[in-house]
Amino acid sequence: MLPYGNGRSYGDSCQNDDGTLLLARGLDRFIAFDPMTGVLDCEAGVSLSEIIDLVLRSGWFPPVTPGTRFITVGGAIANDVHGKNHHRAASFGNHVLEFELLRSDGQVLRCSPTQNRDWFAATIGGLGLTGLIRRVRLQLKRVSGRWICGDSQRFQSISEFFAISAASDPDHEYTVAWIDCSASGSKLGRGIFIRGNHAVATATVAERARFRVPITPPVSLVNRASLSLFNSFYFNRPAAQIENGLWHYQPFFYPLDAVLEWNRMYGPRGFFQYQCAVPMQGAAEALEEMLRRIGKSGQGSFLVVLKTFGDLPALGMMSFPRPGVTLALDFPNRGETTLALLESLDDITRSVGGSVYPAKDARMSAAAFQQYFPMWRAFAAYVDPRFSSSFWRRVTQEQPSR
Ligand SMILES: Cc1cc2nc3c(=O)[nH]c(=O)nc-3n(C[C@H](O)[C@H](O)[C@H](O)COP(=O)(O)OP(=O)(O)OC[C@H]3O[C@@H](n4cnc5c(N)ncnc54)[C@H](O)[C@@H]3O)c2cc1C
Repeated sequence: MLPYGNGRSYGDSCQNDDGTLLLARGLDRFIAFDPMTGVLDCEAGVSLSEIIDLVLRSGWFPPVTPGTRFITVGGAIANDVHGKNHHRAASFGNHVLEFELLRSDGQVLRCSPTQNRDWFAATIGGLGLTGLIRRVRLQLKRVSGRWICGDSQRFQSISEFFAISAASDPDHEYTVAWIDCSASGSKLGRGIFIRGNHAVATATVAERARFRVPITPPVSLVNRASLSLFNSFYFNRPAAQIENGLWHYQPFFYPLDAVLEWNRMYGPRGFFQYQCAVPMQGAAEALEEMLRRIGKSGQGSFLVVLKTFGDLPALGMMSFPRPGVTLALDFPNRGETTLALLESLDDITRSVGGSVYPAKDARMSAAAFQQYFPMWRAFAAYVDPRFSSSFWRRVTQEQPSR
């Protein structure tokens, strides 16, 4: 068995070939919410979008949110997801006060930083393998409203990115950058840095309409020519450089949520996402080498995110976030050529002691996983004997039980 939230993981960590999926989205009830303290009790299949709809009008917001709000609380814990405020708030698990874990033998464990602490640590970032999270108590974050006030600026290199990032972290809750992965030579590492804070605003910026990619085109719309054209336009457009920006929280946090079935643009062969985290020491050289290889290959896409991770430690035994910097980008699936490129990115990640994010992975080798997550053997003791996933079997080379 494997719990399944809303299927927003990019690879096979939420899949269980030849096994059973427990559709946790049915656990969708709110239990209690205290608007004075921002403590929310809910079942684990409630989505972040539903939480925002309930609590934002009382001045509360999820303490950590990834780039889509269509994920469940259970999924957020199982991957210990991170957002644009990692340098301030660490990851999702750091804001979980308590949860109930149902094991396949019927035992229910109440877990918190003080009760069943080892199960708490194993389940945060535990890839859904320690049991079914039934209900959760969460500390939300006080916010002044639905607006984000900040700015956006171009940078010309990775070292400039690091300088802006260091200068921005103290005064900005949210920081993130986009990188032009098709750039080369003197343009290598150029991008756009965006930062902001929750703000009180009376402005009325129109909410963006949603649209849908209506069909799956026969081939990927993302190729060397379209990528270089789009990136050049995106980097040079006037909105890349704004001093006093005001964003509605939706386009600020969730730009892709406005494009339903955006994944169709990659055609029937789909795409891979690669997200790595590398320590600060050696990060600039590692990122530049990755961008050089990606640019040369003509692969990659315009969906590229670069973000620093702060020093606050994650609470999960297997959590992905760690101090340093994280790069995430999509690659249209061109078969062996793409897999070879991703292997070569893995070589760089490994050489600097980095790691690759299981939530975004569909291809890392068992050897790579075991190097990235040396705690995996200790973690295996907490895996429910009746739980497994396609990802777990792949990276531990465990045989499926019949
Ligand atoms: C557009 C987009 C942007 C994203 N941006 C980010 C980002 O910025 N940062 C980030 O960290 N991630 C990001 N992600 C990844 C996403 O946040 C994670 O993969 C998240 O875990 C998905 O949650 P889900 O509810 O869809 O769960 P699923 O994908 O269905 O499952 C994820 C894991 O949770 C487990 N699980 C689900 N429910 C339960 C439960 N009740 N009990 C126990 N285990 C459970 C599953 O077994 C699985 O291991 C992004 C994904 C998308 C599509």
